[in-house]
Amino acid sequence: MPRVPELFGANVFNDKKMQERLPKSTYKALKKTIQDGEPLDLSVANVVAAAMKDWAIEMGCTHYTHWFQPMTGVTAEKHDSFIQPNGDGVIMEFSGKELIKGEPDASSFPSGGIRATFEARGYTTWDPTSPAFVRDGSLYIPTAFCSYTGEVLDKKTPLLRSMERISSEAVKILHLLGKTEVTRVITTVGPEQEYFLIDRELYNRREDLMLTGRTLFGAKAPKGQELDDHYFGAIKTRVSAYMKDLDEELWKLGVLAKTKHNEVAPSQHELAPIFTTSNIANDHNELTMEIMKKTAEKHGLVCLLHEKPFAGVNGSGKHNNWSLSTNTGENLLSPGKHPEDNLQFQLFLAAVVKAVDEYQDLLRATVASAGNDHRLGAHEAPPAIISMYLGDDLGEMVDSIINGEEYVSHGKEQMRTGVDVLPDFKKDTSDRNRTSPFAFTGNKFEFRALGSALNIGCPNYMLNTMVAEELSQFYVELKNADDINKAVRSLVKNVLTEHRRIIFNGDNYTDEWVEEAKRRGLLNLKSLPDAFSHFLDRKNVELFVKNKIVTEAEYQARYEIELETYCKQLNIEALTMIDMAKKKITPAVTAFVREMTDAALAKKALSADIPTSVEEELVMSLSNKLVCFVKKTSELEDAVMAASEHKQDELTCAKYFREVVFAKMQELRAVGDSMETETASDFWPYPSYCELLFSVE
Ligand code: ADP
Ligand code: MG
Repeated sequence: MPRVPELFGANVFNDKKMQERLPKSTYKALKKTIQDGEPLDLSVANVVAAAMKDWAIEMGCTHYTHWFQPMTGVTAEKHDSFIQPNGDGVIMEFSGKELIKGEPDASSFPSGGIRATFEARGYTTWDPTSPAFVRDGSLYIPTAFCSYTGEVLDKKTPLLRSMERISSEAVKILHLLGKTEVTRVITTVGPEQEYFLIDRELYNRREDLMLTGRTLFGAKAPKGQELDDHYFGAIKTRVSAYMKDLDEELWKLGVLAKTKHNEVAPSQHELAPIFTTSNIANDHNELTMEIMKKTAEKHGLVCLLHEKPFAGVNGSGKHNNWSLSTNTGENLLSPGKHPEDNLQFQLFLAAVVKAVDEYQDLLRATVASAGNDHRLGAHEAPPAIISMYLGDDLGEMVDSIINGEEYVSHGKEQMRTGVDVLPDFKKDTSDRNRTSPFAFTGNKFEFRALGSALNIGCPNYMLNTMVAEELSQFYVELKNADDINKAVRSLVKNVLTEHRRIIFNGDNYTDEWVEEAKRRGLLNLKSLPDAFSHFLDRKNVELFVKNKIVTEAEYQARYEIELETYCKQLNIEALTMIDMAKKKITPAVTAFVREMTDAALAKKALSADIPTSVEEELVMSLSNKLVCFVKKTSELEDAVMAASEHKQDELTCAKYFREVVFAKMQELRAVGDSMETETASDFWPYPSYCELLFSVE
């Protein structure tokens, strides 16, 4: 294996390759587009396309693809070869036009009813800010996706727009504060990705995992995560080989894979990259999830990215670490040694506090999904109540600002290990709070409520836009101030006073917090249908329309798509359960009951003195449960059938699925799982939790 620095970015048409392969003037023009957002002209694109193609062919490519992120939440690609007829042969060509614009048929991507299927045309547009790369013989070009009539149909376009929006508002504020050398502010993201790895052969025997990504039946294994022996535990050989392979694949693609470790649940792991610009972080996270799955195939494993593959042990999330930095290299959320005197930091902090409080409903909705509903509030993930953790030091600072008192930061205290050979070191100013949905962690916020499968585009464009909105309001208030410092101080004090309720430094898992949050008037939106009941509130629509992130119709479409997807997912889960119940579980239990009955009868035939109570009790118990199981199966069937009567609007339908269908699924599962504990494993038709969670060596 080549050394990592040589390996890193080997499959990416990165800055270094552009410098080597592009004429100076083309390189400069392209850089201007990438760094300063200047429009790009076709002559430049032509030169870039030719250079990209030559490189890709050297790398063994025959095709190129515009790679995009439609509203399905996963990426999409359509491959075209470079061939062009030439005499009776072909040559390999790739024009600037082909680089800039692609035309996939858009009719089968979700559009939330903003367009009819016959209006099939859709366009993809090259995003030069995210580098092209090579995979499996194709040149991948990151692109944005819109319809013929210009409606935005993807997750990337709003993200790019929100990044520009927050940049221009933040720059205006910084100029007011005297930082006139700053011309651009960049949002940065580091998404920590959790996942499960299970054996492929076992996976192939479970249609629930194959069709829905999670187990719909499955009795708890005798052991779960109670010993905390998996978290940060020594990594098993097969997993370790997988992780090594994964890192190498990601490095080749320029993904800054940094940290890997075992997570809390058995068979659960995490990968964290080093943070980068939001847009690239988003593309890289999508790539990471795809490569995780692909690499697993090579190792006879399956990577599960579902938020809750197994009941009874932790599910998987994705922590979205988020910050703002200037083109001069300053992190705007870095408090410095004396945050109490750092007005710039206080102002940006206040903007985030105000944003999270005013748009807590949106932040909740943006992490809602059928899968994530199983986690939030389940004492393994932050609650469905959105609040912020600032830690003791900043918390005290905020209190003193509000109360108008003098405050001196404790600064970093010395950590004394008490052992001479161990070095002493400086502690962080705040401890970690694993229970908070939105935690300040030193120089960034960690939005911790995301589900593992989520495309991070949506939470990030929403977060960027809400903070941009607050900054623009601050600007209006500050721009004519005679004494800017005085004006900032008073603004910060007012904002923090007004929005103090969103700050909570305690344990988010307690019942007391649920009560307290209610008293504070914070929302507790427990499921996706609840979360989306505020999505179309006027203030939310206006946020995106005013800031030109999406139009009202596009916003409405997003709402419809999310709710529809939720209903479809629950529908698939219910149908899968019914299928498993009728075709496999009921026949298996019947067969086992028969075996026990035969055994009892055979014993009786041999001699009336042989006890048959064990068989008889089992036969009685399982027969009763089976009656109940079959009844619950048909109740679930009825509930699914009746869904068509609740389709008057998406929200009603989603509520029906949550309140009726999902409730029936849980009832059915309870009986099924209880039968599993009494049925011999030779008869049970599916691999058990024990095998699934503990078999990878
Ligand atoms: P912790 O373990 O406290 O969460 P880490 O330093 O391990 O903190 O960072 C976790 C993630 O946060 C990593 O992906 C890291 O790159 C990312 N991160 C660090 N600084 C920033 C920043 N300024 N902006 C965005 N993400 C960041
Ligand atoms: Mg973290």
